[in-house]
Amino acid sequence: AARKLPDQSWTLGYPPDVDWNAPIPVKPLTALLEDAAARFAERPFLDFMGKRSTYAEVARMVDRAARGFQAIGVGKGVRVGLFLPNTPYYVICYFAILKAGGTVVNFNPLYAERELHHQITDSGVELMVTLDLTVLYGKMARMLAESGLKRLVVCPMADILPFPKNWLFPIVKRAEVARIPADDRHLSFRRLVANDGAPKPVAIDPAEDVAVLQYTGGTTGVPKGAMLTHANLFANTEQCGLWFVGARQGEERMLGVLPFFHVFAMTVVMNFSIRIGAEIVMLPRFELDQVMETIHAKKPTLFPAVPTIYTAINHHKHLEKYDLSSIRYCLSGGAPLPVEVKEAFERNTGCVLVEGYGLSESSPVATANPITGLNKAGSIGLPLPGTLIEIVSLEEPRRVLPIGEKGEVCIRGPQVMKGYWNKPSETALTLVDGRLHTGDVGYMDEDGYTHIVDRIKDMILCSGFNVYPRNVEEAIYLHPAVAECVVAGLPDEYRGQTVKAYIRVDDGKSLTREELIDFLKDKLSPIEMPKAVEFRGELPKTMIGKLSRKALLDEEEERRKGS
Ligand code: AMP
Repeated sequence: AARKLPDQSWTLGYPPDVDWNAPIPVKPLTALLEDAAARFAERPFLDFMGKRSTYAEVARMVDRAARGFQAIGVGKGVRVGLFLPNTPYYVICYFAILKAGGTVVNFNPLYAERELHHQITDSGVELMVTLDLTVLYGKMARMLAESGLKRLVVCPMADILPFPKNWLFPIVKRAEVARIPADDRHLSFRRLVANDGAPKPVAIDPAEDVAVLQYTGGTTGVPKGAMLTHANLFANTEQCGLWFVGARQGEERMLGVLPFFHVFAMTVVMNFSIRIGAEIVMLPRFELDQVMETIHAKKPTLFPAVPTIYTAINHHKHLEKYDLSSIRYCLSGGAPLPVEVKEAFERNTGCVLVEGYGLSESSPVATANPITGLNKAGSIGLPLPGTLIEIVSLEEPRRVLPIGEKGEVCIRGPQVMKGYWNKPSETALTLVDGRLHTGDVGYMDEDGYTHIVDRIKDMILCSGFNVYPRNVEEAIYLHPAVAECVVAGLPDEYRGQTVKAYIRVDDGKSLTREELIDFLKDKLSPIEMPKAVEFRGELPKTMIGKLSRKALLDEEEERRKGS
Protein backbone atom coordinates (compact mmCIF):
# COMPACT_ATOMS: atom_id res chain seq x y z
CA ALA A 1 0.00 0.00 0.00
CA ALA A 2 1.21 3.48 -0.73
CA ARG A 3 2.52 5.23 2.34
CA LYS A 4 1.56 8.79 2.86
CA LEU A 5 3.68 11.60 4.06
CA PRO A 6 2.25 11.96 7.53
CA ASP A 7 2.61 15.63 8.14
CA GLN A 8 1.42 17.68 5.22
CA SER A 9 3.08 20.80 6.55
CA TRP A 10 6.41 19.83 5.05
CA THR A 11 5.44 17.86 1.98
CA LEU A 12 5.66 20.99 -0.14
CA GLY A 13 9.35 21.37 0.60
CA TYR A 14 10.17 17.78 -0.38
CA PRO A 15 12.44 17.76 -3.45
CA PRO A 16 10.22 17.27 -6.51
CA ASP A 17 12.62 14.77 -8.08
CA VAL A 18 12.59 12.52 -4.99
CA ASP A 19 9.67 10.22 -4.28
CA TRP A 20 9.14 9.76 -0.56
CA ASN A 21 6.70 6.95 -1.36
CA ALA A 22 8.95 4.99 -3.72
CA PRO A 23 8.78 1.26 -2.98
CA ILE A 24 11.85 0.00 -1.14
CA PRO A 25 12.62 -3.63 -1.98
CA VAL A 26 13.19 -6.18 0.77
CA LYS A 27 16.23 -8.07 -0.55
CA PRO A 28 19.35 -9.82 0.68
CA LEU A 29 22.34 -7.49 0.63
CA THR A 30 24.18 -9.97 -1.58
CA ALA A 31 21.76 -9.01 -4.39
CA LEU A 32 23.42 -5.60 -4.45
CA LEU A 33 26.77 -6.92 -5.63
CA GLU A 34 25.20 -9.53 -7.90
CA ASP A 35 23.18 -6.86 -9.72
CA ALA A 36 26.24 -4.62 -10.02
CA ALA A 37 28.38 -7.50 -11.33
CA ALA A 38 25.79 -8.03 -14.08
CA ARG A 39 25.25 -4.35 -14.93
CA PHE A 40 28.78 -3.02 -14.58
CA ALA A 41 30.82 -6.21 -15.17
CA GLU A 42 33.87 -4.73 -16.84
CA ARG A 43 33.72 -1.36 -15.10
CA PRO A 44 36.47 -0.66 -12.57
CA PHE A 45 35.31 -1.23 -8.99
CA LEU A 46 38.24 -1.10 -6.57
CA ASP A 47 41.42 0.93 -6.85
CA PHE A 48 43.85 0.08 -4.08
CA MET A 49 47.20 1.83 -4.29
CA GLY A 50 46.89 1.84 -8.06
CA LYS A 51 45.90 -1.82 -8.43
CA ARG A 52 42.48 -1.89 -10.00
CA SER A 53 39.86 -4.61 -10.24
CA THR A 54 36.54 -4.75 -12.06
CA TYR A 55 33.10 -5.60 -10.72
CA ALA A 56 33.23 -9.02 -12.42
CA GLU A 57 36.65 -9.80 -10.92
CA VAL A 58 35.58 -8.88 -7.40
CA ALA A 59 32.33 -10.84 -7.73
CA ARG A 60 34.33 -13.94 -8.78
CA MET A 61 36.58 -13.61 -5.75
CA VAL A 62 33.53 -13.22 -3.53
CA ASP A 63 32.14 -16.53 -4.83
CA ARG A 64 35.40 -18.32 -4.16
CA ALA A 65 35.78 -16.83 -0.71
CA ALA A 66 32.13 -17.70 0.07
CA ARG A 67 32.78 -21.31 -0.94
CA GLY A 68 35.92 -21.28 1.22
CA PHE A 69 34.04 -19.88 4.22
CA GLN A 70 31.36 -22.53 3.83
CA ALA A 71 34.07 -25.20 3.78
CA ILE A 72 35.23 -24.07 7.23
CA GLY A 73 31.75 -24.03 8.70
CA VAL A 74 30.38 -20.55 7.99
CA GLY A 75 26.63 -20.66 7.44
CA LYS A 76 23.46 -19.23 8.88
CA GLY A 77 23.79 -17.93 12.41
CA VAL A 78 27.60 -17.97 12.29
CA ARG A 79 29.27 -14.67 13.08
CA VAL A 80 32.61 -13.82 11.51
CA GLY A 81 34.80 -10.91 12.54
CA LEU A 82 36.52 -8.53 10.14
CA PHE A 83 39.62 -6.90 11.56
CA LEU A 84 40.73 -5.06 8.44
CA PRO A 85 41.46 -1.55 7.24
CA ASN A 86 40.08 -0.45 3.84
CA THR A 87 41.49 -2.98 1.38
CA PRO A 88 39.93 -5.18 -1.33
CA TYR A 89 39.96 -7.95 1.29
CA TYR A 90 37.40 -6.04 3.34
CA VAL A 91 34.94 -5.83 0.44
CA ILE A 92 35.50 -9.41 -0.71
CA CYS A 93 35.21 -11.00 2.74
CA TYR A 94 32.21 -8.87 3.72
CA PHE A 95 30.15 -10.07 0.75
CA ALA A 96 31.56 -13.61 0.92
CA ILE A 97 30.51 -14.04 4.55
CA LEU A 98 27.01 -12.82 3.66
CA LYS A 99 26.85 -15.11 0.64
CA ALA A 100 27.90 -18.06 2.79
CA GLY A 101 24.92 -17.19 4.99
CA GLY A 102 26.92 -15.74 7.90
CA THR A 103 26.90 -12.44 9.79
CA VAL A 104 29.70 -9.87 9.59
CA VAL A 105 30.97 -8.40 12.86
CA ASN A 106 33.05 -5.27 12.29
CA PHE A 107 36.08 -4.76 14.51
CA ASN A 108 37.98 -1.51 14.71
CA PRO A 109 41.67 -2.19 13.89
CA LEU A 110 42.69 0.50 16.37
CA TYR A 111 40.95 -1.19 19.28
CA ALA A 112 42.97 -2.02 22.36
CA GLU A 113 43.04 -5.63 23.48
CA ARG A 114 40.54 -5.08 26.26
CA GLU A 115 37.97 -3.73 23.80
CA LEU A 116 38.67 -6.54 21.34
CA HIS A 117 38.24 -9.11 24.05
CA HIS A 118 34.91 -7.63 25.08
CA GLN A 119 33.57 -7.53 21.55
CA ILE A 120 34.76 -11.05 20.69
CA THR A 121 33.11 -12.42 23.81
CA ASP A 122 29.89 -10.44 23.43
CA SER A 123 29.41 -11.29 19.75
CA GLY A 124 30.54 -14.90 20.09
CA VAL A 125 32.86 -14.63 17.11
CA GLU A 126 35.08 -17.70 16.65
CA LEU A 127 36.53 -16.84 13.26
CA MET A 128 38.28 -13.57 12.38
CA VAL A 129 39.76 -12.22 9.17
CA THR A 130 42.85 -10.04 9.37
CA LEU A 131 45.98 -8.96 7.50
CA ASP A 132 49.48 -10.41 7.88
CA LEU A 133 50.80 -7.10 9.23
CA THR A 134 52.29 -7.28 12.71
CA VAL A 135 50.22 -4.35 14.00
CA LEU A 136 47.01 -6.26 13.27
CA TYR A 137 48.00 -9.91 13.37
CA GLY A 138 49.88 -9.43 16.67
CA LYS A 139 46.68 -8.41 18.47
CA MET A 140 44.74 -11.29 16.97
CA ALA A 141 47.43 -13.83 17.86
CA ARG A 142 46.91 -12.80 21.49
CA MET A 143 43.14 -13.01 21.09
CA LEU A 144 43.58 -16.60 19.82
CA ALA A 145 45.35 -17.39 23.06
CA GLU A 146 43.15 -15.40 25.43
CA SER A 147 39.61 -15.17 24.08
CA GLY A 148 37.02 -17.48 22.59
CA LEU A 149 38.48 -16.89 19.14
CA LYS A 150 39.33 -20.24 17.50
CA ARG A 151 40.66 -19.48 14.05
CA LEU A 152 42.10 -16.74 11.84
CA VAL A 153 41.93 -16.18 8.11
CA VAL A 154 45.10 -14.24 7.33
CA CYS A 155 45.28 -12.10 4.20
CA PRO A 156 48.71 -11.37 2.68
CA MET A 157 49.21 -7.66 2.20
CA ALA A 158 51.62 -8.15 -0.70
CA ASP A 159 48.97 -9.88 -2.84
CA ILE A 160 46.80 -6.77 -3.18
CA LEU A 161 49.61 -4.38 -4.14
CA PRO A 162 50.40 -3.51 -7.75
CA PHE A 163 53.61 -4.71 -9.42
CA PRO A 164 56.44 -4.19 -8.41
CA LYS A 165 55.28 -3.19 -4.90
CA ASN A 166 53.94 -6.72 -4.37
CA TRP A 167 57.46 -8.07 -4.84
CA LEU A 168 59.22 -5.38 -2.89
CA PHE A 169 56.85 -5.18 0.05
CA PRO A 170 57.87 -8.43 1.83
CA ILE A 171 61.53 -7.42 1.50
CA VAL A 172 61.40 -3.71 2.24
CA LYS A 173 58.77 -4.01 4.96
CA ARG A 174 60.07 -7.29 6.37
CA ALA A 175 59.90 -5.98 9.92
CA GLU A 176 56.21 -5.15 9.55
CA VAL A 177 55.06 -8.45 8.07
CA ALA A 178 54.11 -11.11 10.62
CA ARG A 179 55.26 -14.74 10.39
CA ILE A 180 52.13 -16.83 10.37
CA PRO A 181 52.35 -20.27 12.00
CA ALA A 182 51.41 -23.20 9.75
CA ASP A 183 48.82 -24.82 12.00
CA ASP A 184 45.11 -25.51 11.78
CA ARG A 185 44.21 -22.32 13.64
CA HIS A 186 45.53 -20.23 10.75
CA LEU A 187 44.20 -20.28 7.22
CA SER A 188 45.72 -18.17 4.48
CA PHE A 189 43.33 -16.21 2.29
CA ARG A 190 45.08 -17.86 -0.68
CA ARG A 191 43.95 -21.27 0.59
CA LEU A 192 40.46 -19.97 1.41
CA VAL A 193 39.87 -19.05 -2.23
CA ALA A 194 41.54 -22.11 -3.79
CA ASN A 195 38.30 -23.70 -5.00
CA ASP A 196 35.82 -23.76 -7.90
CA GLY A 197 33.95 -20.65 -6.73
CA ALA A 198 30.54 -22.29 -6.50
CA PRO A 199 29.15 -21.63 -3.02
CA LYS A 200 26.08 -23.60 -1.96
CA PRO A 201 23.04 -21.34 -2.31
CA VAL A 202 21.69 -20.19 1.05
CA ALA A 203 18.09 -19.09 1.56
CA ILE A 204 18.28 -15.68 3.24
CA ASP A 205 15.28 -14.18 4.96
CA PRO A 206 16.16 -10.51 4.43
CA ALA A 207 13.83 -9.12 7.08
CA GLU A 208 15.05 -11.48 9.82
CA ASP A 209 18.60 -12.55 9.03
CA VAL A 210 21.25 -10.31 10.54
CA ALA A 211 23.82 -9.24 7.95
CA VAL A 212 25.98 -7.12 10.24
CA LEU A 213 26.46 -6.75 13.97
CA GLN A 214 27.59 -3.16 14.28
CA TYR A 215 29.05 -2.30 17.67
CA THR A 216 28.29 1.12 19.03
CA GLY A 217 28.25 2.93 22.32
CA GLY A 218 24.69 3.87 21.42
CA THR A 219 22.81 6.16 23.70
CA THR A 220 23.78 4.47 26.95
CA GLY A 221 27.51 4.05 26.61
CA VAL A 222 28.24 0.31 26.96
CA PRO A 223 29.30 -1.06 23.55
CA LYS A 224 26.61 -3.28 22.10
CA GLY A 225 25.89 -4.86 18.74
CA ALA A 226 23.17 -3.24 16.63
CA MET A 227 21.60 -6.05 14.59
CA LEU A 228 21.32 -4.75 11.03
CA THR A 229 19.38 -7.15 8.84
CA HIS A 230 19.93 -7.71 5.14
CA ALA A 231 16.72 -5.76 4.52
CA ASN A 232 17.91 -2.84 6.71
CA LEU A 233 21.17 -2.42 4.82
CA PHE A 234 19.67 -3.04 1.39
CA ALA A 235 16.95 -0.49 2.17
CA ASN A 236 19.37 2.19 3.33
CA THR A 237 21.49 1.82 0.22
CA GLU A 238 18.35 2.05 -1.89
CA GLN A 239 17.14 5.10 0.08
CA CYS A 240 20.47 6.83 -0.60
CA GLY A 241 20.04 5.99 -4.28
CA LEU A 242 16.51 7.41 -4.39
CA TRP A 243 17.79 10.53 -2.68
CA PHE A 244 20.82 11.10 -4.83
CA VAL A 245 19.05 11.34 -8.17
CA GLY A 246 22.00 13.11 -9.82
CA ALA A 247 24.39 10.16 -9.48
CA ARG A 248 25.60 8.99 -12.89
CA GLN A 249 25.33 5.20 -13.10
CA GLY A 250 28.66 3.58 -13.83
CA GLU A 251 30.44 6.92 -14.09
CA GLU A 252 31.23 8.17 -10.62
CA ARG A 253 34.43 7.78 -8.69
CA MET A 254 34.19 7.66 -4.89
CA LEU A 255 36.97 8.57 -2.49
CA GLY A 256 36.97 5.85 0.18
CA VAL A 257 38.98 7.23 3.04
CA LEU A 258 36.42 6.71 5.83
CA PRO A 259 36.86 3.23 7.32
CA PHE A 260 34.42 0.65 5.95
CA PHE A 261 34.06 -1.01 9.35
CA HIS A 262 32.23 2.13 10.47
CA VAL A 263 28.57 2.18 9.51
CA PHE A 264 28.78 5.52 7.66
CA ALA A 265 31.36 4.33 5.14
CA MET A 266 29.92 0.82 4.99
CA THR A 267 26.66 2.13 3.53
CA VAL A 268 27.51 5.48 1.98
CA VAL A 269 30.89 4.63 0.50
CA MET A 270 30.95 0.87 -0.08
CA ASN A 271 27.34 -0.20 -0.60
CA PHE A 272 26.18 2.97 -2.28
CA SER A 273 29.11 2.85 -4.73
CA ILE A 274 28.04 -0.66 -5.68
CA ARG A 275 24.48 0.49 -6.25
CA ILE A 276 25.58 3.12 -8.76
CA GLY A 277 28.50 1.18 -10.23
CA ALA A 278 31.08 3.67 -9.01
CA GLU A 279 34.78 3.02 -8.70
CA ILE A 280 36.10 3.30 -5.15
CA VAL A 281 39.54 4.81 -4.67
CA MET A 282 40.46 3.24 -1.35
CA LEU A 283 42.78 4.67 1.23
CA PRO A 284 43.61 2.52 4.24
CA ARG A 285 43.78 5.46 6.65
CA PHE A 286 43.35 9.22 6.79
CA GLU A 287 46.58 11.00 6.07
CA LEU A 288 46.02 14.55 4.90
CA ASP A 289 48.73 14.89 2.24
CA GLN A 290 47.86 11.51 0.80
CA VAL A 291 44.19 12.53 0.56
CA MET A 292 45.16 15.77 -1.22
CA GLU A 293 47.44 13.95 -3.66
CA THR A 294 44.85 11.27 -4.31
CA ILE A 295 42.15 13.82 -5.13
CA HIS A 296 44.57 15.70 -7.38
CA ALA A 297 45.72 12.58 -9.24
CA LYS A 298 42.69 10.26 -9.26
CA LYS A 299 39.97 12.87 -9.62
CA PRO A 300 37.21 11.41 -7.48
CA THR A 301 33.76 12.90 -8.03
CA LEU A 302 32.14 11.93 -4.70
CA PHE A 303 33.70 12.42 -1.31
CA PRO A 304 31.68 11.52 1.79
CA ALA A 305 33.52 12.41 4.99
CA VAL A 306 33.24 13.67 8.54
CA PRO A 307 33.54 17.36 9.42
CA THR A 308 37.11 17.07 10.80
CA ILE A 309 38.33 15.86 7.40
CA TYR A 310 36.77 18.81 5.56
CA THR A 311 38.26 21.09 8.22
CA ALA A 312 41.71 19.59 7.75
CA ILE A 313 41.53 20.15 3.98
CA ASN A 314 40.30 23.72 4.39
CA HIS A 315 43.31 24.44 6.59
CA HIS A 316 45.93 22.70 4.42
CA LYS A 317 49.00 24.91 4.13
CA HIS A 318 49.35 24.46 0.38
CA LEU A 319 45.72 24.14 -0.61
CA GLU A 320 46.27 26.01 -3.87
CA LYS A 321 48.81 23.41 -5.06
CA TYR A 322 46.09 20.80 -5.50
CA ASP A 323 43.33 20.54 -8.06
CA LEU A 324 40.21 19.57 -6.10
CA SER A 325 37.75 20.55 -8.81
CA SER A 326 36.81 16.97 -9.76
CA ILE A 327 34.70 16.69 -6.59
CA ARG A 328 31.03 17.19 -7.43
CA TYR A 329 29.15 16.12 -4.32
CA CYS A 330 30.04 15.56 -0.70
CA LEU A 331 28.01 14.19 2.18
CA SER A 332 29.08 15.12 5.68
CA GLY A 333 27.83 13.02 8.55
CA GLY A 334 28.65 11.52 11.91
CA ALA A 335 28.95 14.83 13.73
CA PRO A 336 27.69 18.39 13.35
CA LEU A 337 29.12 20.25 10.38
CA PRO A 338 29.99 23.81 11.37
CA VAL A 339 28.51 26.25 8.85
CA GLU A 340 31.94 27.88 8.40
CA VAL A 341 33.50 24.57 7.45
CA LYS A 342 30.77 23.78 4.91
CA GLU A 343 31.02 27.14 3.20
CA ALA A 344 34.81 27.18 3.07
CA PHE A 345 34.95 23.68 1.62
CA GLU A 346 32.42 24.52 -1.08
CA ARG A 347 34.46 27.61 -1.96
CA ASN A 348 37.70 25.65 -2.03
CA THR A 349 36.45 22.88 -4.32
CA GLY A 350 33.36 24.15 -6.12
CA CYS A 351 31.39 21.10 -4.96
CA VAL A 352 27.98 20.81 -3.32
CA LEU A 353 28.40 19.70 0.29
CA VAL A 354 25.26 18.47 2.04
CA GLU A 355 24.93 17.40 5.63
CA GLY A 356 23.19 14.19 6.60
CA TYR A 357 22.46 12.45 9.84
CA GLY A 358 22.22 8.95 11.14
CA LEU A 359 23.48 6.40 13.59
CA SER A 360 24.62 2.81 13.72
CA GLU A 361 21.12 1.73 14.74
CA SER A 362 19.65 3.17 11.51
CA SER A 363 22.10 1.61 9.03
CA PRO A 364 22.91 4.67 9.33
CA VAL A 365 21.34 7.36 7.09
CA ALA A 366 18.03 8.82 8.27
CA THR A 367 18.06 12.37 6.92
CA ALA A 368 20.03 14.51 4.52
CA ASN A 369 19.82 17.87 2.85
CA PRO A 370 18.54 17.57 -0.71
CA ILE A 371 21.25 17.59 -3.32
CA THR A 372 19.01 19.52 -5.64
CA GLY A 373 16.84 21.86 -3.65
CA LEU A 374 17.13 23.82 -0.46
CA ASN A 375 20.44 22.98 1.24
CA LYS A 376 20.13 24.46 4.71
CA ALA A 377 23.46 24.94 6.40
CA GLY A 378 23.29 23.92 10.05
CA SER A 379 20.37 21.53 9.49
CA ILE A 380 20.50 17.76 8.94
CA GLY A 381 17.89 18.08 6.21
CA LEU A 382 14.80 16.05 5.36
CA PRO A 383 13.94 12.41 6.03
CA LEU A 384 15.08 10.03 3.29
CA PRO A 385 12.33 8.27 1.28
CA GLY A 386 10.32 5.93 3.49
CA THR A 387 11.68 7.52 6.68
CA LEU A 388 9.81 9.46 9.33
CA ILE A 389 11.37 11.79 11.83
CA GLU A 390 9.37 12.51 14.94
CA ILE A 391 10.39 14.74 17.82
CA VAL A 392 9.11 13.39 21.13
CA SER A 393 8.94 14.97 24.55
CA LEU A 394 11.95 14.32 26.81
CA GLU A 395 9.63 13.90 29.77
CA GLU A 396 6.90 11.85 28.07
CA PRO A 397 8.62 9.76 25.42
CA ARG A 398 5.35 8.76 23.72
CA ARG A 399 4.19 12.34 23.09
CA VAL A 400 5.08 13.68 19.64
CA LEU A 401 5.87 17.40 19.72
CA PRO A 402 4.74 20.02 17.22
CA ILE A 403 6.99 21.88 14.77
CA GLY A 404 9.56 24.08 16.46
CA GLU A 405 9.64 22.36 19.86
CA LYS A 406 12.78 20.69 21.12
CA GLY A 407 12.71 17.02 22.07
CA GLU A 408 14.29 13.66 21.34
CA VAL A 409 14.74 12.86 17.66
CA CYS A 410 13.09 9.54 16.76
CA ILE A 411 13.28 7.60 13.51
CA ARG A 412 10.91 5.18 11.81
CA GLY A 413 11.82 3.44 8.60
CA PRO A 414 13.00 0.26 6.91
CA GLN A 415 16.61 1.02 7.88
CA VAL A 416 15.94 0.86 11.65
CA MET A 417 17.75 -2.08 13.29
CA LYS A 418 16.09 -5.22 14.55
CA GLY A 419 17.44 -4.61 18.07
CA TYR A 420 20.62 -4.98 20.10
CA TRP A 421 22.29 -8.36 20.11
CA ASN A 422 21.47 -10.24 23.34
CA LYS A 423 20.30 -7.07 25.07
CA PRO A 424 16.50 -7.18 25.26
CA SER A 425 16.21 -4.54 27.97
CA GLU A 426 18.44 -2.05 26.10
CA THR A 427 16.43 -2.80 22.98
CA ALA A 428 13.17 -2.09 24.78
CA LEU A 429 14.49 1.31 25.90
CA THR A 430 15.61 2.26 22.41
CA LEU A 431 12.87 0.85 20.17
CA VAL A 432 9.55 2.04 21.55
CA ASP A 433 6.33 1.64 19.51
CA GLY A 434 8.43 1.09 16.39
CA ARG A 435 10.36 4.32 16.92
CA LEU A 436 14.09 4.42 17.27
CA HIS A 437 15.04 6.78 20.10
CA THR A 438 18.31 8.35 19.04
CA GLY A 439 19.43 10.08 22.23
CA ASP A 440 19.78 13.31 20.23
CA VAL A 441 17.88 16.49 21.02
CA GLY A 442 16.51 18.40 18.07
CA TYR A 443 13.57 20.19 16.52
CA MET A 444 11.88 20.35 13.15
CA ASP A 445 11.40 23.68 11.42
CA GLU A 446 8.49 24.93 9.29
CA ASP A 447 10.00 23.43 6.12
CA GLY A 448 10.34 19.98 7.71
CA TYR A 449 14.10 20.28 8.12
CA THR A 450 15.45 18.85 11.35
CA HIS A 451 18.06 20.62 13.45
CA ILE A 452 20.15 18.69 15.94
CA VAL A 453 20.69 20.67 19.09
CA ASP A 454 22.86 18.15 20.90
CA ARG A 455 23.11 14.70 22.34
CA ILE A 456 21.03 14.26 25.48
CA LYS A 457 24.05 12.95 27.31
CA ASP A 458 26.26 15.89 26.25
CA MET A 459 23.88 18.56 27.51
CA ILE A 460 25.43 20.68 30.23
CA LEU A 461 23.32 21.56 33.23
CA CYS A 462 24.74 24.80 34.56
CA SER A 463 23.08 26.56 37.50
CA GLY A 464 19.80 24.92 36.51
CA PHE A 465 19.99 25.99 32.85
CA ASN A 466 20.55 23.71 29.87
CA VAL A 467 23.62 24.64 27.89
CA TYR A 468 24.06 22.97 24.53
CA PRO A 469 27.79 22.52 23.80
CA ARG A 470 27.07 22.60 20.08
CA ASN A 471 25.77 26.15 20.36
CA VAL A 472 28.90 27.28 22.14
CA GLU A 473 31.11 25.47 19.62
CA GLU A 474 29.37 27.14 16.67
CA ALA A 475 30.12 30.54 18.23
CA ILE A 476 33.76 29.66 18.86
CA TYR A 477 34.20 28.42 15.28
CA LEU A 478 33.32 31.89 14.05
CA HIS A 479 36.72 33.09 15.29
CA PRO A 480 39.15 32.96 12.35
CA ALA A 481 42.05 31.59 14.42
CA VAL A 482 40.11 28.53 15.61
CA ALA A 483 40.80 25.31 13.71
CA GLU A 484 38.93 22.86 15.96
CA CYS A 485 37.06 23.00 19.22
CA VAL A 486 35.12 20.88 21.68
CA VAL A 487 32.95 22.17 24.49
CA ALA A 488 32.13 19.98 27.46
CA GLY A 489 30.58 20.19 30.91
CA LEU A 490 32.79 19.60 33.91
CA PRO A 491 31.51 18.91 37.43
CA ASP A 492 31.35 22.06 39.50
CA GLU A 493 30.52 22.40 43.17
CA TYR A 494 28.46 25.55 42.83
CA ARG A 495 26.90 25.39 39.40
CA GLY A 496 26.43 21.64 39.04
CA GLN A 497 28.39 21.74 35.82
CA THR A 498 30.55 24.35 34.22
CA VAL A 499 31.39 25.02 30.57
CA LYS A 500 34.90 24.32 29.33
CA ALA A 501 36.23 24.85 25.82
CA TYR A 502 39.15 22.93 24.32
CA ILE A 503 40.61 24.65 21.30
CA ARG A 504 43.17 23.95 18.63
CA VAL A 505 44.38 27.18 17.07
CA ASP A 506 45.20 27.20 13.37
CA ASP A 507 48.90 26.82 12.53
CA GLY A 508 50.62 30.18 12.43
CA LYS A 509 47.78 32.00 14.21
CA SER A 510 47.43 32.98 17.84
CA LEU A 511 44.61 33.42 20.28
CA THR A 512 44.45 34.10 24.00
CA ARG A 513 41.70 33.27 26.43
CA GLU A 514 40.90 36.97 26.89
CA GLU A 515 40.66 37.59 23.16
CA LEU A 516 38.32 34.65 22.78
CA ILE A 517 36.02 35.66 25.64
CA ASP A 518 35.93 39.19 24.27
CA PHE A 519 35.01 37.85 20.84
CA LEU A 520 32.22 35.70 22.30
CA LYS A 521 30.65 38.44 24.43
CA ASP A 522 27.92 39.36 21.97
CA LYS A 523 27.43 35.76 20.79
CA LEU A 524 26.79 33.83 24.00
CA SER A 525 24.83 34.34 27.17
CA PRO A 526 26.78 34.55 30.45
CA ILE A 527 25.61 31.02 31.34
CA GLU A 528 26.99 29.65 28.07
CA MET A 529 30.29 31.54 28.25
CA PRO A 530 33.18 29.08 28.80
CA LYS A 531 34.54 29.38 32.33
CA ALA A 532 37.66 27.50 31.36
CA VAL A 533 39.56 27.50 28.08
CA GLU A 534 42.36 25.10 27.24
CA PHE A 535 44.48 25.46 24.12
CA ARG A 536 45.92 22.26 22.72
CA GLY A 537 48.19 21.29 19.85
CA GLU A 538 45.80 18.48 19.00
CA LEU A 539 42.32 17.33 20.01
CA PRO A 540 41.46 13.66 20.47
CA LYS A 541 39.36 12.01 17.76
CA THR A 542 37.45 8.76 17.45
CA MET A 543 38.49 6.23 14.86
CA ILE A 544 36.23 7.69 12.21
CA GLY A 545 37.53 11.16 12.97
CA LYS A 546 34.82 12.67 15.16
CA LEU A 547 36.21 15.00 17.80
CA SER A 548 36.00 12.99 21.01
CA ARG A 549 34.37 14.75 23.90
CA LYS A 550 34.45 11.49 25.81
CA ALA A 551 38.26 11.21 25.63
CA LEU A 552 38.59 14.74 27.04
CA LEU A 553 36.13 14.04 29.86
CA ASP A 554 37.96 10.79 30.70
CA GLU A 555 41.21 12.76 30.95
CA GLU A 556 39.58 15.31 33.25
CA GLU A 557 38.32 12.53 35.45
CA GLU A 558 41.79 10.96 35.63
CA ARG A 559 43.19 14.39 36.53
CA ARG A 560 40.61 14.82 39.30
CA LYS A 561 41.34 11.38 40.69
CA GLY A 562 45.06 12.15 40.65
CA SER A 563 44.78 15.48 42.43
P1 AMP B 1 27.43 6.38 15.94
O1 AMP B 1 27.83 6.10 17.36
O2 AMP B 1 28.61 6.39 15.05
O3 AMP B 1 26.34 5.52 15.51
O4 AMP B 1 26.99 7.92 15.94
C1 AMP B 1 25.68 8.38 15.90
C2 AMP B 1 25.58 9.75 16.52
O5 AMP B 1 26.39 10.70 15.81
C3 AMP B 1 24.20 10.32 16.45
O6 AMP B 1 23.36 9.82 17.46
C4 AMP B 1 24.47 11.82 16.63
O7 AMP B 1 24.65 12.17 17.98
C5 AMP B 1 25.80 11.99 15.90
N1 AMP B 1 25.58 12.55 14.56
C6 AMP B 1 25.58 11.91 13.39
N2 AMP B 1 25.38 12.76 12.36
C7 AMP B 1 25.23 14.00 12.90
C8 AMP B 1 25.00 15.31 12.37
N3 AMP B 1 24.91 15.53 11.08
N4 AMP B 1 24.88 16.32 13.26
C9 AMP B 1 24.98 16.11 14.58
N5 AMP B 1 25.22 14.91 15.13
C10 AMP B 1 25.34 13.86 14.31
